[in-house]
Amino acid sequence: MKKKVTIIGGGLAGAEAACQAARSGLEVDLHEMRPLVMTEAHQSGWLAEMVCSNSLGSEEVTSASGLLKRELRRLGSFFLRQAEQSRVPAGSSLSVDRLRLAAGLTRKLQGMPGVRLIQGEVREVPDGDGPLIIASGPLTSPAFARALSGLTLRKHLYFFDATCPLLRAESIDFTQLFAASRYEKGEADFWNIPLDKERYEAFVGDVVRGETAEVHEFEKKVFFDACLPLEEIARSGTQSLAFGPLKPVGLVDPRSGRRPFAVVQLRQDDLQKNFYQLVGFQTRLKHGEQKRIFRTLPGLERAEFERFGRMHRNTYINAPLIINRFSQCKQDGRVYFAGQLSGVEGYVESVASGLVCGLFAARDALGLERLELPRETAVGALLAYAANADWRDFRPSKFTFGLLPEAGVEVRDKKRKKELKAERAGQELDQWIREAKI
Ligand SMILES: Cc1cc2nc3c(=O)[nH]c(=O)nc-3n(C[C@H](O)[C@H](O)[C@H](O)COP(=O)(O)OP(=O)(O)OC[C@H]3O[C@@H](n4cnc5c(N)ncnc54)[C@H](O)[C@@H]3O)c2cc1C
Repeated sequence: MKKKVTIIGGGLAGAEAACQAARSGLEVDLHEMRPLVMTEAHQSGWLAEMVCSNSLGSEEVTSASGLLKRELRRLGSFFLRQAEQSRVPAGSSLSVDRLRLAAGLTRKLQGMPGVRLIQGEVREVPDGDGPLIIASGPLTSPAFARALSGLTLRKHLYFFDATCPLLRAESIDFTQLFAASRYEKGEADFWNIPLDKERYEAFVGDVVRGETAEVHEFEKKVFFDACLPLEEIARSGTQSLAFGPLKPVGLVDPRSGRRPFAVVQLRQDDLQKNFYQLVGFQTRLKHGEQKRIFRTLPGLERAEFERFGRMHRNTYINAPLIINRFSQCKQDGRVYFAGQLSGVEGYVESVASGLVCGLFAARDALGLERLELPRETAVGALLAYAANADWRDFRPSKFTFGLLPEAGVEVRDKKRKKELKAERAGQELDQWIREAKI
């Protein structure tokens, strides 16, 4: 009889883990509660739905997400392959039609031998002999989060993130915008709203004074630094937005021939160009306030909102206390934690975590030796971070070059330093793939 792995959660991590386990010859039971029970952020019943931005980051290997994606390609990520088939234009980054990607990967999994999709909310940690991968994500259903407390030493944590609004294309007056990519990389893939100093300052004033949604009393008001809401950035100083999401560098307005004081960028969200995201506009401003304030921007006077920006929970375990370098629960070796819940942050990181959990769990089930991923690789560094960070102040992390050990060569130039680390990561990963016979 074939060995089986059970996966809870068919999001970015769970779907990738399922593909990897099935590819390794295992049977897979993949539990997903949507569309029967929806989360506060997902829009569809498809697996592997990206819930907010449609960007998977830069493709350049000297950028953190570029290096991580290169490793995922070498490891045979199904999600990335599907992402490439769902690509929308976005300069030098990989951006996708989110729902097309999700639908494509769902169909692939539906047709994959050995994979059984089981719809419904899991409310208890299932018993069984085979490996269990828990990948229920930052929006893990409350009942299941409670059930997990036995495994997580009652220390599952949360903080708050905020998502950006999505606008309907037909409601945008594009004649007031200009199309361009920063530093002319790629085609003119973004629509840009140029702001002069006066308009920018009026906008900042509105954002700062805007009414925000309540934070529940029992919830701590903690934001994750990499995903600060627009209003939090604006409150930190009048110029903060102009140096952050509204930065004008690398953009020239063809009508004036000059760089604007600040720029609001709109990125295409789907292949049909029906929707555009306001880039970096994650917010917890009340819906009415978003409408009022964002409609003061040129070209958005009649903007219709397909989705408002909002606040959301972000559940994760205190990874250094709970898991080892294989993302395996120290208290119960049958259990693996994957994705955002396991202490990584971001789409690509969640896919990476799911991919290796799928491989590790499969090797476990097949009685094969598991080989630790070198810390010099991006994926290995992420796993090492989650397992070894300081538990007293633990926060999920994106992959950064800072997580990689120094290259051991004296180099001053930052880009060159990254190139060397990327080169070494590539060699170490290839060696690991050869030894693990992936
Ligand atoms: C609102 C929001 C916006 C985000 N925006 C971004 C962004 O723009 N860019 C970025 O890089 N990262 C973003 N993230 C962070 C993170 O990258 C994503 O959440 C990513 O989808 C995490 O992957 P995952 O597989 O861990 O979780 P998910 O993709 O959320 O998958 C978890 C799955 O488990 C299912 N599930 C939950 N509980 C149960 C249960 N009890 N039984 C069965 N199924 C269950 C859910 O329905 C879901 O399909 C965002 C997160 C949130 C919550």
